[in-house]
Amino acid sequence: VNRQRALELLRRQPFEVLVIGGGITGAGVALDAASRGLRVALIEKSDFASGTSSRSSKLIHGGLRYLKQLRFGLTLESVRERETLLRMAPHLVRPVRILLPYRRPLAYKAALSLYDAIAGSPAARRHRRIERDEIRRLVPHLRTAGVGGAFQYFDATVDDCRLVMHVLRKATQLGAVVVNYAGFASFTSEGVQVTDSIANESFAVRCTTAVNATGVWSDAVRQKLDDGAPSLLRTSKGAHIVIDAAKLRVDGAVTIPRTSRGHYLFVAPWEGRTIVGTTDTAYEGSLERPLATREDISTLLDGVAEWFPSAGVTPSDVVAVYAGLRPLAASAGATSAASREEFIERRGRLITVAGGKLTTFRHMAKRVVDRLTSAPCETHRLTLDASEEPPRGLEPAVAAHLHRAFGSQAHIIAESAGAGALLDEEQPHTWAEIDYIVRHEMPMTVADILARRTRIALSAHDHGRSVVEAVADRLSEHLGWTPAQRQSSIGQYLEEVLEYSTN
Ligand SMILES: Cc1cc2nc3c(=O)[nH]c(=O)nc-3n(C[C@H](O)[C@H](O)[C@H](O)COP(=O)(O)OP(=O)(O)OC[C@H]3O[C@@H](n4cnc5c(N)ncnc54)[C@H](O)[C@@H]3O)c2cc1C
Repeated sequence: VNRQRALELLRRQPFEVLVIGGGITGAGVALDAASRGLRVALIEKSDFASGTSSRSSKLIHGGLRYLKQLRFGLTLESVRERETLLRMAPHLVRPVRILLPYRRPLAYKAALSLYDAIAGSPAARRHRRIERDEIRRLVPHLRTAGVGGAFQYFDATVDDCRLVMHVLRKATQLGAVVVNYAGFASFTSEGVQVTDSIANESFAVRCTTAVNATGVWSDAVRQKLDDGAPSLLRTSKGAHIVIDAAKLRVDGAVTIPRTSRGHYLFVAPWEGRTIVGTTDTAYEGSLERPLATREDISTLLDGVAEWFPSAGVTPSDVVAVYAGLRPLAASAGATSAASREEFIERRGRLITVAGGKLTTFRHMAKRVVDRLTSAPCETHRLTLDASEEPPRGLEPAVAAHLHRAFGSQAHIIAESAGAGALLDEEQPHTWAEIDYIVRHEMPMTVADILARRTRIALSAHDHGRSVVEAVADRLSEHLGWTPAQRQSSIGQYLEEVLEYSTN
C-alpha cells in the first residue's frame, strides 16, 4: 500500500464515507463500506492498531462471563462472530482449549451447555469435564487444593494487530483508501480537515458522512462537532503481563472467573510465551500509551501465585507488560459490570461507533454501514488472506509463524531470497518478513514494525533492542530517511519500549 498515493487520493477525490480511526472498529467499517461499493477512506492519527486494538487479551470469544450477566444477546452475537472469523481467517483465528477449574461443577455446567447450544459447537469443540490427572498433564502448575475438577471448552485466539492489518488489506483490495499518521483535526462545511503528522501538513478531505471509530477518543471527535455533546464514554484500564513459558507452561488457556483479589484471571500461550490478564479499573489518565503500573503487575502476579503456586513465578520472569483502555458506555457502577455492547450515535453527518469487542467488529461494522446504504452486507462471505497450509521449505517453527501472521501472503515471503534468515535465534521472525512489512504494510516508524506488525516488543526479552538498528536501516532505505530521521525513529522506539518493560 503506497501512502503517498493514498494521500493524493484523499486530497483529490470526494468520499461517501470517511472513517476516523484505524483500530479494529474503523478497519471493519472501511471493509464493509468498500465491499458494498461505497467510496470510503480511513484516516488514523498515529499507527494502525496503536490504540486498544493492539492491547487486548487476544481472544475471539463468546464471552462466557456475559451469560452470568444474563446478556444472552451479546453471547449469541459473539459466538456467531467467532465462528464467522474462524472461517474468514483460519490461519489467524485459531481455536483454543480453555480450562475452567471448579470447586463444584453445577454452577458452570448449565452455562457451558447453553454456550455450546448457542454456538452450535461441533462435537469436537463441545465442553466436557476433565479429571484431575488430565488437568495435571495439561497445566502441571495449576493448584489442586480446593479444585474439584475442570471443564474444557473452546474459544479462539488471534493476534489483534495482525487482524487489523488483514482487515485493512482486504478493505484496500476492495477500493478503500487508508492512511496512517493522518489525524482528524476539525469539521469543515464539506468534510473534515486532516493533519498529516509525517509531512506536518494539513489538508481538507471532502466526505458526505464521517464515521467516528476512535474508541476511547470518541468524545473528543464528537465534541468538535458539538462542544456541548454529553460524554458517551467512560474508560477502564486492563493490564497484562507476558511470562517466560519455561516458567509457566500451559497447554491451552486457563480462565479463573474470580481470584481472591476479585479479578478475572486469564492465562494463555502466546507467541511462544504465556500471557496473563487482566485487571479492570476505572481510568482517567492520559489516553496515549496507558501504562501497566507496579500495582497492576503485582495484582496479576498474585493471581498467578494463587492459582499456579508450584510454578514459583517471580517478577524477574515477566518478559513484558502492556495495558489497554476499554471504551465503555457511560454508566454507574464497577467497570467490570459495564456493558461490552457497542453503541452507535448519529449527530448530523457524524456517526459514532464505540464499545463492543474485537470479536464483534464485523457485526458492529454491518450495523453502521446498514445506515449508509441499502446494499446488503456480504462481509461474512469474505476471506482474509485465508490459507490452510503453511509455506514449504522453511524451518517448521518459522513456516508456522509466517502462516499464522500472514496467511496466504506467507507463501510470497517464503519464496523471497534468503527467506529463512532469522532476526535472532530467540524468535521465528525473518528478515524476509520485515522486508515484506516494509514494502506492503505502511510502517512509518521502527515501532510500527517491532511493536505492531510484529510483536517483538512484547515477546523478545530485550524488546527488540538488538535488532532496532538493522530494522531502521531497512525502513530508512525504503522511506529515503536522512540519518537524523533514522536516528529519531530509533530514539522514539527505545523510549516507547520502556512502556513494555518492568524496570
Ligand atoms: C485489556 C483489554 C482486553 C481486551 N480483550 C479483548 C479480547 O480478548 N477479545 C475481544 O474481543 N475484545 C477485547 N477487548 C476489547 C477490544 O480490544 C476493543 O473493543 C477494540 O480493540 C476497540 O477497537 P477500536 O477500533 O474501537 O478502538 P482503538 O483500537 O483504540 O482504535 C481507535 C483508533 O482511533 C485513532 N484516533 C483517535 N483519535 C483520532 C483522530 N483524531 N484522528 C484519527 N484517528 C484517531 C486512535 O489512534 C486509535 O488507533 C479488550 C480490551 C481491553 C482494554
